[in-house]
Amino acid sequence: MKKLVLLGSTGSIGTNTLRLVTDFPDRFRVVGLTAGRNGDKLLGQIRRFRPRCVALADPAAAERLRRQCRDLPDLRNPGIEVLSGIEGLVRVATLADADLVVSAIVGSAGLVPTFEAIRAKKTMALANKEPLVMAGSILQQEARRQGITLLPVDSEHSAIFQSMSGQRRRDVRRLILTASGGPLLDLPVRKRRVIKPAQALRHPVWRMGSKISIDSATLMNKGLEVIEAHWLFDMPPDRIDVVIHRQSIVHSMVEYLDGSVIAQMGVPDMRGPLAYALNYPERLPLGLPALDLTRVRSLTFEPPDLKKFPCLGFAYEAIKIGGTLPAVLNAANEVAVRAYLEERIGFLEIARLIRKTMDAHVPLAVKSLEDVLEADRWGRERASKSVGEKE
Ligand code: NAD
Ligand code: MG
Repeated sequence: MKKLVLLGSTGSIGTNTLRLVTDFPDRFRVVGLTAGRNGDKLLGQIRRFRPRCVALADPAAAERLRRQCRDLPDLRNPGIEVLSGIEGLVRVATLADADLVVSAIVGSAGLVPTFEAIRAKKTMALANKEPLVMAGSILQQEARRQGITLLPVDSEHSAIFQSMSGQRRRDVRRLILTASGGPLLDLPVRKRRVIKPAQALRHPVWRMGSKISIDSATLMNKGLEVIEAHWLFDMPPDRIDVVIHRQSIVHSMVEYLDGSVIAQMGVPDMRGPLAYALNYPERLPLGLPALDLTRVRSLTFEPPDLKKFPCLGFAYEAIKIGGTLPAVLNAANEVAVRAYLEERIGFLEIARLIRKTMDAHVPLAVKSLEDVLEADRWGRERASKSVGEKE
């Protein structure tokens, strides 16, 4: 029986993880859950999964939840600890009896809890990609120091991880990440200016949280994944390629020195890569529909158009220059995506805002987590100021 802590339990990855816990009750037990501010949803999860400790980032929401837990007869015995703020998230992330931590908070908010869970020697199932983008060197260094593995949950990285299983690292020539292209793939640039969030959120394949859905529409998600792959697999960015693959059947590929390419395929469902990380190295009978390639009929691969999707190029640039630049890219993107979702800026301004913020930044070396957090603050402030100037 594996004891799980789930950071970001109310989100898309969080609820998919809990579906797996429901389907495999003799394999997994939940000991800790955290969320941002959705106390009602968390309360439902508490009643269903009975963790002994939970946290909400928002203190007022946590206080309300604490009262509810106290008043509900079914939750009184044994009592449940309800914590709040970043300290609360970290307490849950480092619970002594947890065997595995699923990191599924969205954005930079996951950085400190993820880092502390690694420092507490927890095996990590990592969905939250932004911390790796911001602080990949620090997180990997700490993981090595603690002797723990960072198991990828992102479908592309899980595919690469699976395609490397049993192979020698030094035989790898190139990683090939696939991208569905998102909902705006065929839309000409001139029509992108007027794209409303509702349209950009409509991903053709995956149902995900709003931030990653917008990142998929700009292809920044793929850019973040290039940086994620760089840190997870210790591969220079010029040996990580991206191809557009509309069907989302090939989840990514690894090319070897002899020219062989190993790909991982499957129906697109996040429970696949999630279950692989949760139960690694054993596979679970998930009961997903079988992949019928005769019905898919054709698998297509196209090069990405960097003129249409400048964010992908920005991410390559950020990781090649390195230091604090990827953290600034990430911060500017988070500010831009939020402003776009709140309809304070247009779709094309997301990329412009990131470009402007990157251009204003003088990258510094990253020696500690504090250096990264400082770059994140700087990037956020700078990008927010530019959004303000627009209004
Ligand atoms: P989501 O928006 O659906 O859920 C995010 C979770 O984080 C929620 O539980 C929310 O309460 C919590 N949260 C938000 N802000 C917080 C804060 N400030 N402090 C603490 N908790 C906070 O997001 P998602 O789609 O589940 O994605 C989660 C992460 O996984 C992202 O980094 C994303 O890039 C990555 N990922 C998601 C998918 C997917 O299919 N959804 C696939 C690959 C990778
Ligand atoms: Mg992905």
